Amino acid sequence: MHDLVVRGGTLVMNGLPQLDIAIEDGVIAALGPDLPGAAEEIDARGMHVFPGLIDVHLHFNEPGRTHWEGAATGSRALAAGGGTLFFDMPLNSTPCTVNGDAFNRKQAALAETSITDFALWGGLIPGNVPEMAELAQRGVVGFKAFLCDSGLPEFPRADDVTLLDGLREAARLGLPVAVHAESQEITQGLTQRIAALDCGSVRAFLASRPVMAELEAIHRATLLAREAGAKLHIVHVSSGRGVALAAEARAQGADVSIETCPHYLFFTEDDVEQLGAIAKCAPPLRAPADQDALWTRVLAGDLDIVASDHSPAPPDMKSGDFRTAWGGIAGVQSTLAVLLDRGYHSRRLSLEHISSLIAAEPARRFRIASKGGIAIGNDADLTLVDVSRSKQLRAEDLKQRHAISPYIGCSFRGCVERTILRGETIFTEGEITARSNGRFVRPTSAS
Ligand SMILES: [Zn+2]
Repeated sequence: MHDLVVRGGTLVMNGLPQLDIAIEDGVIAALGPDLPGAAEEIDARGMHVFPGLIDVHLHFNEPGRTHWEGAATGSRALAAGGGTLFFDMPLNSTPCTVNGDAFNRKQAALAETSITDFALWGGLIPGNVPEMAELAQRGVVGFKAFLCDSGLPEFPRADDVTLLDGLREAARLGLPVAVHAESQEITQGLTQRIAALDCGSVRAFLASRPVMAELEAIHRATLLAREAGAKLHIVHVSSGRGVALAAEARAQGADVSIETCPHYLFFTEDDVEQLGAIAKCAPPLRAPADQDALWTRVLAGDLDIVASDHSPAPPDMKSGDFRTAWGGIAGVQSTLAVLLDRGYHSRRLSLEHISSLIAAEPARRFRIASKGGIAIGNDADLTLVDVSRSKQLRAEDLKQRHAISPYIGCSFRGCVERTILRGETIFTEGEITARSNGRFVRPTSAS
């Protein structure tokens, strides 16, 4: 007899079959119609069953800045949004994950506090290329570099030589390099020029980080990645033109994956004016025409992954002057809701395509074996969704540390009803029900 059967859901995989899922020791043991009874049963009739969402880009800031977020609260918010695995960025924890010792400290902290599975990014900063092998050995999924200021002095941006050296070393180690692609020259130059003219207004901030700054950095990063023979992952591409440029480099032979975030698909620069600093991020939210172009690229299949880039801060850092407010959007709980509402309902983005963006591609690109799809032998990480139920996000629904998010008050068609991690229900009926901690996950060895 199996431990658990999830009965009668529509599985979000080829052909959308309606099947039972039998689970044993946290692993999918059988798929089929009318499977025999089990010790525990979950009725999923009328619901869609996605593979657990994998968020490849977020900042839980632990250890060191748990007053900003922390994995205890952050992983609960992830679970409430249908997530079962996250990749934590090397900043804004203290220390940043730029060497083996910092890695050990973060891994130990997250193992104690996270209720979902987790993986870690290493950092690529000037001077730490010799540390990359040690980070790879410990099991990072890749290395993150900034091409412009990161906002944290202890995580300086990668100059072109650092980036090229880092790409070569990452290629040797068989791991990707992720880049925050905005030009330092353009963003810094425009920021200084605007600061001399203007106060900290929203429009001045938006004008200091134009799409052109993103295009220049994508162009340079893809060029260097090809030169180095490295895998490149471009995080949070904010514009259709940015995706087009990266896709062009891919067509010419660069090994590039392209990520965007739900906020670029949901909000525009007009919303930033309404919402204020709570919606400040970099690259910034874009004009409606840029957002339309981004959606066109999503629907065309040019984009690989959608990740939250959840980057929260305490309330006093997310208000007031745009020059000094923290740049980061706290949206870890809303990724799937955005894709269901604005994608599936508004633009006929298929459920299988959504599943690819949030689970299959993240697992494939970063070589997370046994996750990312509903298949026998995979971890039983499942997200049960009622695609037709509408729900308005209230502040009290948020499981993150500070109930600050531009999504508060927004209504979504499509609702996460239950999240299952390795056979254990960790979220249902609005409540976190996890009894055990998540596990550290590492990529399978390089091919
Ligand atoms: Zn980020």
